[in-house]
Amino acid sequence: MLGHCLCRAIAFEVDGPAQACVVCHCESCRRQCSAPMTAYIGVLDSQWRWLCKPPRIFNSSPGVERTFCDNCGSPLSFRSKNMSGVMHFFSAAMEEPEKFAPTLHVAFEEKLPWLQLADGLPTRVGPDYTKNRTGERALVQPAFCLFSRA
Ligand SMILES: [Zn+2]
Ligand SMILES: [Zn+2]
Repeated sequence: MLGHCLCRAIAFEVDGPAQACVVCHCESCRRQCSAPMTAYIGVLDSQWRWLCKPPRIFNSSPGVERTFCDNCGSPLSFRSKNMSGVMHFFSAAMEEPEKFAPTLHVAFEEKLPWLQLADGLPTRVGPDYTKNRTGERALVQPAFCLFSRA
């Protein structure tokens, strides 16, 4: 599965399937994407790669890396130490975003009040979809330190 930025200077490849497809309402994602919400997929670190050159990295907070194309400005991904071993690519950067229908809303407590949704999907508080309601890791396996792999 391929993805790329608006100008195609940055391209990446993901080995399927995605670990998760979620919609995030957190302020950091909203501001990075200049959008009222964003959808992203979770991919294990061994299952993706940049194809040409890597994008620019912005650290939005300690332990959080957000990437973008330094030519066209498209946001591409984020990753967090709190969800180590997993990369998140914005679904709209995929070549076939229609294939990545979300199944969950995260950080729903930060949803903009004028945004009305009727998709019937479950919601959860906080950004970490990998933990279930009791705090146990649910969808992806604990992996190595976030920054131990390039
Ligand atoms: Zn670009
Ligand atoms: Zn977010």
